[in-house]
Amino acid sequence: MNKIYVNELKNYIDKEIIFSGFVDVVRDKKWVQFIILRDSTGKVQATVEKSVEENKNMVDLISTITRDSVIKVIGKVVKNEAVKLGGIEIIPSNIEILSLAEELPFDYNNLDGVNIDTRLDYRWLDMRNEKNTLIRQVESALTQGMREFLYKENFTEIHTPKLIGTASESGSSVFEVKYFDRLAYLAQSPQFYKQMALAGGLDKVFEVGPVFRAENSNTNRHATEFTGFDLEFAHIDSYEDVMNLEEDLLIAGLTKVKELYGDKIKELFDMDVVIPTKPFPRMDLQDLYKELHDLYNYVIPEHDIGDTNAETEKLIYKYAMEKYNSEFMFVTGYAATKRPFYHMRKEGILQGYDLIWRGTEITSGAQREHRYDELVKNAEEKGLTNDVKFYLQFFKYGCPAHGGFGIGLDRLTMLLLGLSSLKETQFLFRGPNRLEP
Ligand code: ATP
Repeated sequence: MNKIYVNELKNYIDKEIIFSGFVDVVRDKKWVQFIILRDSTGKVQATVEKSVEENKNMVDLISTITRDSVIKVIGKVVKNEAVKLGGIEIIPSNIEILSLAEELPFDYNNLDGVNIDTRLDYRWLDMRNEKNTLIRQVESALTQGMREFLYKENFTEIHTPKLIGTASESGSSVFEVKYFDRLAYLAQSPQFYKQMALAGGLDKVFEVGPVFRAENSNTNRHATEFTGFDLEFAHIDSYEDVMNLEEDLLIAGLTKVKELYGDKIKELFDMDVVIPTKPFPRMDLQDLYKELHDLYNYVIPEHDIGDTNAETEKLIYKYAMEKYNSEFMFVTGYAATKRPFYHMRKEGILQGYDLIWRGTEITSGAQREHRYDELVKNAEEKGLTNDVKFYLQFFKYGCPAHGGFGIGLDRLTMLLLGLSSLKETQFLFRGPNRLEP
């Protein structure tokens, strides 16, 4: 017999089952003992009558069970309208303690006042908080929805190496790793390899995998390791095609989340999963600067001209909501100097965009430069020719026009649930001061 999960119990009324899970609480009353048990799908009550002679050993055992111990229950599922948890309870015939829990260092059901670092030190306990379980489930549903969409669109999921031989993309924020008698680097994105796959004849590829950035900053939206949801596809006419695909992808992901967890998110986070409508508003950066100045008296600092920063992104959100009632906004017209050399330029204008959601950048996307000579020129301009020699080769022997983007999955989840930081959002946060657990 297999373990039955809480959400399956309704199919086993009047049947004998095995249940195992964590003990939420034991209520030892005069005539009866109630054990509230839980697994990742919910909670159920097990009820043991003290007056029943055969229950004697079980009753003694139950009195020794501590909170959060894991027990195995063999028993009958019965209907009982008086039971709050789904009108169902388990009447055990046998109980076994599989793992007896010591006293917990903090109450994960009441995290107010518990320092986030203490929570992270004991992340596996912190995870037992319903909200934290839901964060993981939501991120999984988001990924599922987006993956399913891409499979339907004939994308191929690829896996690219994270250990690389040259610190290629920007060099500034790369981790070095001792690699036998030389140095290797941790990949800052799968960018080059996604493009190599297209040069290799795959038309549409994506990858969901770790991305490493040696950013020694403690913001709420930067981690040193995060999960990138990256894709690239060929035979496009412009970066408009890339933005169009991203709209559909996000709609698919959010729709899956709403379908599976919309109600639970409302209950625990008091957030509505809003499915955006197409097209998301699109605006040129210069026009935006003007609007932000006229409406909010905002002037972009000198060193950020041609780019956005955290403050601009907040205002862009405000503007997008006020003007378009949209949580999303595509921003185009970034300065080539502020973007990587592989973003295509046409008559000097960068063929790329950022997508801002709820005031934070979630994506950079672009049509990529596939013309070898142009690409070499761009790399030279940035002084990268030597570093990216191997990459430039991909475009020498025929390569279709293409584009793509990378979404920070962790940021997406954070924004979706209105969480305050990646520390809270990531399963296991990695930042300048955190490498454990
Ligand atoms: P930012 O300007 O916010 O630092 P970026 O321009 O370096 O981001 P990209 O290199 O375009 O970001 O990466 C693609 C996406 O990955 C970003 O839009 C963002 O969602 C996410 N991302 C980037 N850096 C981080 C990070 N350090 N931690 C978590 N997510 C990140």
